[in-house]
Amino acid sequence: KKQDAATGTFAEMELSPVMYRALEKAGFTAPSPIQSALIPHALDGIDVIGQARTGTGKTAAFAIPILEQLDSLDNCRDPQAIILVPTRELADQVGEEAKRLAYGVPTEIAVLAGGRNIRTQLRQLENGVQVVVGTPGRVHDHLQRRSLRTGDVWCVVLDEADRMLDIGFRPQIERILRKCPTDRQTLLLSATLPTTVRKLAESYMHDPLVIDCSKQGMSVETIEQRYFTVEPDRKRDLVRLLLLREQPDQAIVFCRTRRGTDKLYRELSKTFPSCGSMHGDMQQRERDRVLQRLRDGDLQILVATDVVGRGIDISTISHIVNFDVPEDCDDYVHRVGRTGRMGRDGIAFTFVSPGQGDFLTNIEHRINKLLIKDSIEGFETVTL
Ligand code: ADP
Ligand code: MG
Repeated sequence: KKQDAATGTFAEMELSPVMYRALEKAGFTAPSPIQSALIPHALDGIDVIGQARTGTGKTAAFAIPILEQLDSLDNCRDPQAIILVPTRELADQVGEEAKRLAYGVPTEIAVLAGGRNIRTQLRQLENGVQVVVGTPGRVHDHLQRRSLRTGDVWCVVLDEADRMLDIGFRPQIERILRKCPTDRQTLLLSATLPTTVRKLAESYMHDPLVIDCSKQGMSVETIEQRYFTVEPDRKRDLVRLLLLREQPDQAIVFCRTRRGTDKLYRELSKTFPSCGSMHGDMQQRERDRVLQRLRDGDLQILVATDVVGRGIDISTISHIVNFDVPEDCDDYVHRVGRTGRMGRDGIAFTFVSPGQGDFLTNIEHRINKLLIKDSIEGFETVTL
């Protein structure tokens, strides 16, 4: 089954009065394409695979139908929905968005992410929880401890579904899914859903409806995409000059490795005082602090690995720099999608070195657009 995206209004969805109040409070006046297309079907209880561009409201697209159909805590003390996401910070963010949309209705939402105090989580689960948002490792951990009971789960969401089903996460995801009732609803969302992932996903789902809004609306078009050709050993000079030229409100500079991130961070801090870094080797407390500073606008430049490549929604991020080229085109789409949220403007730069010309061509194919070649005065370009 396949369906094209719909357009419409929130009013047509016949949501509850409290939900309209929450939407108004959140400032959501009209649904995005994925929200129009997905919410009615999700409310019908069918399985859906939904693809839509970065920053187009996929979170609310699955959160609204879940919140609309929750039993109250008086009726059910065990989780009714489990939302799985790839990173701890994304779990927090999705939890926050769900809380915002639950405005006016007492709703117990537990964020079960790794690196966080497990006793707090245990206590929360013990007190009764309606919705779990978590990372696979920690959710699985709670299943093994039997602190998380899944008998009443009627909906499971895999956000960033293609990442969740890649080889790193798949075994844990499969174990979690096996523990959930088979007649549950399963919703899969991502900006990138390769055919192989769709095929695989169908084995966990009941005849899913595929909704593809990836050709529609906002982001991508509003993100200007440029590239530099540069020798690897000149990239550090180039990024400094580029950031000085651009004076970004806020920028994320993506590096491939944790060590490379540390090195570049130390280098850039000499020129840019409000610079931070984030990668998977850092203490969770430090990761949380850095992301909070970015959200608060205290940080101008974040040097990071792909740990912030997906899902993170900070509307003030104006610039993306791919200091190292991403692993593949999908990762490119996600990194670049940290700017230009909900139709805002954004600009992304990619540093391409000799031997990486094919990668550039692949991206251009993928986004169906040529990247603009950029240069900086006095900084020689190289042939790829
Ligand atoms: P995605 O998951 O598709 O990348 P998000 O769910 O993170 O996008 O949403 C991007 C931003 O848009 C968030 O800040 C979210 O609160 C906001 N948003 C979502 N739906 C709407 C809407 N209908 N109107 C206005 N803003 C919205
Ligand atoms: Mg998202």
